[in-house]
Amino acid sequence: MRITCPVCGERSVAEFAYEGDATLPRPALDASAEDWCVAVYERENPRGPHAEYWQHAQGCRSWLKVERDTLTHAILGVTLLGRFSGRTGE
Ligand SMILES: [Zn+2]
Repeated sequence: MRITCPVCGERSVAEFAYEGDATLPRPALDASAEDWCVAVYERENPRGPHAEYWQHAQGCRSWLKVERDTLTHAILGVTLLGRFSGRTGE
């Protein structure tokens, strides 16, 4: 599988780290431990198009929202969410 980073271009998925489901709302910071446990550990296993958070961990370290078909692994879209703040010179 290959992901096109908006900053670096097309790269192997080995350069990226999966960072979670982008469709789930996050609990408030002061939510109960039970609410956080559900949000962190109880997951669906969706089939078909799905939104996920990824980080280009071995590249520019940008955070991305990737639309990926979980059945075919086809990348349907990539959105840049934010660039790593420690990167300089670009
Ligand atoms: Zn990148």
